[in-house]
This record gives sequence, structure tokens and C-alpha cells, in this order.
Amino acid sequence: MQNEEKYRLLVENIPDVVWTVDQNGSTTFISPRVENVCEYTPEEIYVAGDRFWLDRTHPGDVEKVKTACESLFKSNKMFDIEYRIKRKDGNWIWIHDRALTTYKNGGVIYADGVFTDITERKRAEEEINLLLTITKSIAEAKDCNAALDIVVRTVCKATGWIYGEAWCPSSEGKYLECRLTWHCSSENLEEFSKKSKEFTFPPGIGMPGRVWSSKKPEWKKDATIDGDFPRADIAKESGLKAAMGIPVIAKDKVIAVLNFFVRRQRNEDEHLIGLVSSVATQLGVAIERRQAEDEKAKLKEQLYHSQKLESIGRLAGGVAHYFNNLLTVIIGYGSLLQMETKLDDVSRGFVQKILKTAETAADITRDLLAFGRKQPSNPQLIELNDILEKAKSLLSEIIREDIKLKAVLTDKDCIVMADSDQIKQVLMNLATNAMDAMPNGGLLTISTDVVELDDAFIKTHGYGEKGMYALISISDTGAGMDAKTKEKIFDPFFTTKEVGKGTGLGLATVYGIVKQHNGYIDIESEPGKGTTFRIFLPLN
Ligand code: ADP
Ligand code: MG
Repeated sequence: MQNEEKYRLLVENIPDVVWTVDQNGSTTFISPRVENVCEYTPEEIYVAGDRFWLDRTHPGDVEKVKTACESLFKSNKMFDIEYRIKRKDGNWIWIHDRALTTYKNGGVIYADGVFTDITERKRAEEEINLLLTITKSIAEAKDCNAALDIVVRTVCKATGWIYGEAWCPSSEGKYLECRLTWHCSSENLEEFSKKSKEFTFPPGIGMPGRVWSSKKPEWKKDATIDGDFPRADIAKESGLKAAMGIPVIAKDKVIAVLNFFVRRQRNEDEHLIGLVSSVATQLGVAIERRQAEDEKAKLKEQLYHSQKLESIGRLAGGVAHYFNNLLTVIIGYGSLLQMETKLDDVSRGFVQKILKTAETAADITRDLLAFGRKQPSNPQLIELNDILEKAKSLLSEIIREDIKLKAVLTDKDCIVMADSDQIKQVLMNLATNAMDAMPNGGLLTISTDVVELDDAFIKTHGYGEKGMYALISISDTGAGMDAKTKEKIFDPFFTTKEVGKGTGLGLATVYGIVKQHNGYIDIESEPGKGTTFRIFLPLN
């Protein structure tokens, strides 16, 4: 008796659940501990009969459990498995279940065993896995959007949210706009996603806006009734209730807000907030690192380009100088020879050919010299529109008849510190290219304007110093360029024109001049759609 009492106490007090089940699956004994783990009393389990456990086993684990029971009762193979069961409150828990012995009693086989609640351990394992997967995927993501997409998706799948979205600051940083959404394919949430994309949130407004300004996570047990939730109506229509917002921070700035939803009310879960926040922190760090790398690569590229230009420029300048002297001699003697009366017609023809070729060579040499020249020779405060007026009359003389020239000059002041000859050179080079691109005629438009380069501009273009600039645009309706050509056009000696027609120095010169003026050049072109060059020169 003493012994029996001792065992009863033991069974009732160990933290594991001790059970006896018969071959049909009915529970004949279960220790009272079960109530702590599953919220069902032993009595409820006894009366429920043979389907009690199977009905509460996770669909994904049913097969595993059935097979294990069969080998236990048919072949007396002990089982030792982990699976999920549903508690009375509807939550899933993980248990580690072991059968210890089987025995026959009155023709029925019974098995004794014990199970343990391992939800905490499983959760920790899953979280570690989640963090590992996410770290790996973020590292492999090709850009910020791809990384956001991975995080939203993975967090939803791993932590039980059925809908997730990423909100990012608009280009001027005035409000948040929806960058992407994701939802379980089995859930009908297209409408919510579509309507959400029409929303924008200024700082402090709505869950995304509040998370954006506070830089802190936010949880709503039921967004449809908790108030302060601009999307409450559409959430209600789509049957969404609980919501969680988490900031993604890089360099102390919120670069995105992640929002998650689920259909039921869900109590605030600090642990989950902590987990998703640490994922968001990783994402922030990764994006920050990526941005720094991109910036470094861009700077390196710029430095490389200007070094290349400089050394080629020096070389070209030197060669051109030397050539120019030789050509002066050739052209000088050629002209003298041409004046010689004793020449017969055939010889005179030859001399003319020599002179013409020498002049072409002199043109190319002039390009080379212009390209090789480094400092603005004579920078002065000039009104760009005046230069453009002059260039216009110069251009209308050289322009072919089948090309129409249109100039749209701003009436705002465009005073810049510049070398007017060099600016004219830029215009001539760009206009010559435009004409070459319109062999069958077209429209050449030159315009000026005053613009501000602000943060938004710098962010979208990836270059620029803030401030006011004079803008010169030169557009043609010509052949345009593909992306591959566009990449190379500023390289010295890059040309798509036949030998003798192009030197590939026009745009390299333009680039060099614009850089010397602390300006920027930007190009927009597509095959068959014409080309626009934009030059920004800092206003004085
Ligand atoms: P070049 O005119 O001697 O070829 P450039 O440096 O002036 O050298 O131009 C380089 C190349 O850029 C050209 O060969 C051409 O392929 C392309 N290009 C420049 N401007 C235009 C334009 N307006 N339209 C189409 N392609 C252009
Ligand atoms: Mg050219």
C-alpha cells in the first residue's frame, strides 16, 4: 500500500504526462498533469473514447502517429515520436511521446507511455532555423526589394501570419507607400492587397506611419475595433483582425515598415515581436551594407573613369599637338604647290586630294586637342542663354536642310561660371551627334531651364550635389541607342560610326568639360525613340 501510494504520487507529480491506451486508441489512464499541458481533464479524455487523440493530432502528423501505433500494437515495436496536438484552447503544441511497455489483459493489448510538452524547445529550434534561412536568403537577395520580399514571406510562413506587406518611404520621404504584399495562396486576400496599395501613410498616421515615426513595433489585438486604424474597414471586409508592425532600421533611419495580419484576434506576443524585430535588424544591416558597397563601387567607377580620361587625354593632347605641327607643314606646302602654274590637271587633282585629306586629319586633331585640354581655359560668369543664342545661329548654318532646329530658352536667369568656348564645343558635339543619328531628317530641340537637385533627385539618379542648376537639354528624334551602347558612349574612342566618320571623342570631350564645370550629364535614349542629353551646370 505504501508503495502504491508512492507510485501514485510519483506519476501525478512528474512534469510529464503518463498514460495507458488500449489497442483501439481509448485512454484508460492518464495522469492529471494532462490538464496543464492540454487543458483537458482526464475525465474528458476518458469519456471521449477511441478518436480523442487522432482527432486532435495535426493533419501533417496523423500518418506518422498512425504508423507508430500500428507497429506498437501489432509488432510490439516501441515508439518514440514528436508530433503536434491541438489544445482545448485551439493552440497547437508539440509533444514528445514515448511508449514504454505493452501487455495483454483480458484479450486486449494495452500500452503504457509518457509524453512531454516540447513546444518551447521546438519553437526555439524553429526560430533558429528561421533566422538561419533568412540570413542566408538576405545575403543572396539581388536587391532591397527581393530581400524585403523574402523576409515578409518567410516570417509569415514561420510565425503564423497569413498576410504580410512592406511599406517604404516615398522618394521625397514624405509618406510611406506599399512596396509589396504577400499572402498565403489559400487565403482570398487579393482585394485587401489591392486596396492597401492605394493607401499612403504620412508619419504618425496608421500603423505603418506610427511605427515609422516611433521606430518601435506596434501590435493590435484586433485592428478592426482597436481604433486608430485607417484600414479598419477593408480589414473587416477581408476578415483580418490582429496586426503587427515592425520597423526595419538602417543607419538610424526607418527604411521600411513590415506589417503582418491574421484572421483571428491575437494577444500581444512579446516573444514574437522580439523575433521578428531581430529579423528586421538583420535585414537593416544587410541593406545598409549593400548600399555602402554600391556607393563604393560607384565612386570607384567614377574615379576609374576620370583617371582613364585624364591619361588618355594627356596622351591624345600630346599626339595631337605633334600632329598639328606636321599637318601645318603639309597643308602649307600643299597650298603653295596648288598655286604652282606649271602643274598639269592630273597632278593638281592629286594635290587637292592630299589637301582635303590633310584637312580631315586636322579636324580630327582638333577633336583630340579639345579632348586633351584639361582646365577650363577661361571660366567667367556668363549667361547661358546668351551662349545658346550664339550657338543657335552657328548651328543653323551647319545644320542640314532636312533637320528642323527648335530652341526653347527659359526666361529665368542662367548665370554660370563657365568657359563659353567650351560650352559651345559641348553644344556642337552634341548637335553633330544628333544630326548623325537623324540621317533621314528630324527635329533637334535645344532648351534651357533652372532646376533644383534635391534629395529625391539625388536618390533616384544616384549622383549630384544639392543645389540650383542650369539645365541644358538637347533632344533629337533620331535612331536612339540600346543599353549596351549607352554604357560606353563616354569612353574615349568609342564610336559606332564607320572609319573616317567618327573619332569617338565627341562625348568623351563633352564629359570632360561638364566634369570640369562641376556639372552632371544625363542621358535618356531608346532605340527608335530618339535621344535626350541633359547637362546640369551649377548656378552662380
Ligand atoms: P562619334 O560621334 O565620333 O562616334 P561620340 O563620342 O560623339 O563619337 O559618340 C559616341 C557614340 O555615341 C556614337 O558613335 C553613337 O553611337 C552614340 N551617339 C552619340 N550621340 C548619339 C545620338 N544623339 N543618337 C544616337 N547615338 C548617339
Ligand atoms: Mg560625335
